[in-house]
Amino acid sequence: MRIHVNDPLDKNAMEKLKASGYEVTEGHLSKEDLIKEIPNIDVLVVRSATKVTADIIEAGTNLKIIARAGTGLDNVDVEKAKEKGIKVLNTPGANGISVAELAIGLMISCARHIAKGTMDLKEGKWTKKELKGHELYKRTVGIIGFGNIGREVAKRLLAFDMEVLAYDPFVKETELNVKIVDLDTLFSNSDIITVHVPLTPETKHLINKNSIEKMKDGVIIINAARGGVVDEEALYEALISGKVYSAGLDVFEIEPPTDELRKKLLELPNVVVTPHIGASTFEAQLRVGQIIVDKILEEIKKL
Ligand code: NAD
Repeated sequence: MRIHVNDPLDKNAMEKLKASGYEVTEGHLSKEDLIKEIPNIDVLVVRSATKVTADIIEAGTNLKIIARAGTGLDNVDVEKAKEKGIKVLNTPGANGISVAELAIGLMISCARHIAKGTMDLKEGKWTKKELKGHELYKRTVGIIGFGNIGREVAKRLLAFDMEVLAYDPFVKETELNVKIVDLDTLFSNSDIITVHVPLTPETKHLINKNSIEKMKDGVIIINAARGGVVDEEALYEALISGKVYSAGLDVFEIEPPTDELRKKLLELPNVVVTPHIGASTFEAQLRVGQIIVDKILEEIKKL
């Protein structure tokens, strides 16, 4: 039984995996190298850097388990794995608090120009007069996708005394002090909109030219879910026109965001960005690493 860890796992989790007695190898193999090596791998462990595509799975003649240390499975061809009888594991919920905290960080930075103030001051510019912002207190936040992360965001924003609206086609009620509304009600009533949905055909470009038109003037948009949920071209236009006050983005449709459109987007002063670090905390990676290792060892026992 050989377990290959293709994207780095937490140190403690690696130690536990190595202590299991199975052969454990680690190190990032490019797609080409992985296709060559995959016939010798029984368990492939990835985070988000490795795309486990159909051709990799097809070449994995001994592959039994694909373990994704994280939530989203959009980097794994789950259908192909199912077809080949390969078990796919992930760690839903394990990094939710980290992502929720980052989304709120982006929100506050957007509302209070923290990133712009930092950049200006570092360049020696005292832009105090230009950087008047907004409070979160008593303002309305609309959460699209009321799963694990959406709920963690809601709990924290209720402590800011915000009015919290949520839209999720699979959630009809909640014990939290949150109003479950339809999407148009959320769009037209929210001062801040934050998305926490998986990327699916239904959620692709959920935030687009049309939906932005339905929003309040001066809305703040946060995407710490997946690039592609927000149509970044439409967002760019709306940031230029002032329809959108500012946007906080941890994820992009193209990562790293180096193409022309995203370069222009990043240059806007009212955009706050981070390089897909929602789950990148010591605490979340420890949790994710331990859970995925336990799941792998449990699953191997069943083989
Ligand atoms: P989750 O499955 O607990 O919640 C997702 C929610 O979205 C579910 O309640 C689902 O019903 C809802 N949903 C599905 N389709 C919808 C639609 N069309 N409209 C509205 N709601 C819809 O997942 P989670 O743990 O809360 O994670 C949410 C997303 O956050 C993940 O799918 C992933 O893409 C993203 N994420 C990002 C990072 C990061 O590093 N920035 C890290 C982890 C997760």
